[in-house]
Amino acid sequence: VLRCDDLYRFFRAGDEETLALRGVSLRVGRGETVAVAGPSGSGKSTLLSCLAGLDEPAGGAVTIGGEQISHRPESRRARIRSRRLGILLQSGNLLAHLNVRDNIRLAQAAAGRPSEQAPEELLDQVGLSGRARAVATELSGGELARAGLAVALSNKPDVLLADEPTGELDGATEQIVLDLIRTRAEFGQGVLVVTHSAVVMRIADRVIRLQDGRIVG
Ligand code: ATP
Ligand code: MG
Repeated sequence: VLRCDDLYRFFRAGDEETLALRGVSLRVGRGETVAVAGPSGSGKSTLLSCLAGLDEPAGGAVTIGGEQISHRPESRRARIRSRRLGILLQSGNLLAHLNVRDNIRLAQAAAGRPSEQAPEELLDQVGLSGRARAVATELSGGELARAGLAVALSNKPDVLLADEPTGELDGATEQIVLDLIRTRAEFGQGVLVVTHSAVVMRIADRVIRLQDGRIVG
């Protein structure tokens, strides 16, 4: 349902050039959970941004459900994102001026699926019932991660792209996130998750290891 072929991404700052991605190719099938691991700076977040169409690779292509998202105008990429992808970045995905419930409603409206699933129900699933009216600054790190996951899943995405969703969670809440990932996979949704967690890697169908912008395992 998601594939990328031979992705390259360079960053230039003055005379310095960083090769963040050097020919990365991968596939995520329906219902498949793929974990991406690797040291800090190995290109994990850059890869996720390119897959989500938030960043443009210098070379290679990204296809989601047969539709190419790379090298397309932003309006087109945004449409694919809001209909087909759930995205949870390290920086979070909540709009600061909207409360959690309205963030969920906005994501559903952008996907053309308003009120498909009640925000309260989604928040229940991530263990955040009762916090629907809170805004981002009123949530703890762990709550923010769970709210972000609820927003990322609110449009029933074909693929969930998550950058260290369990990074700030304690054991109990990590379990909620894990159960959620597992349930999504059973519904046929693909999951690509960047993680350092051995627990997450254990439930993944495959673990891809990145180093210096290349897949090394
Ligand atoms: P972490 O585990 O710390 O989150 P990561 O694997 O997600 O690391 P990336 O954020 O993808 O790593 O960064 C890959 C490389 O590209 C790093 O060397 C980083 O400094 C560089 N990089 C990332 N974004 C930019 C940018 N906007 N401008 C310049 N360099 C960047
Ligand atoms: Mg990162």
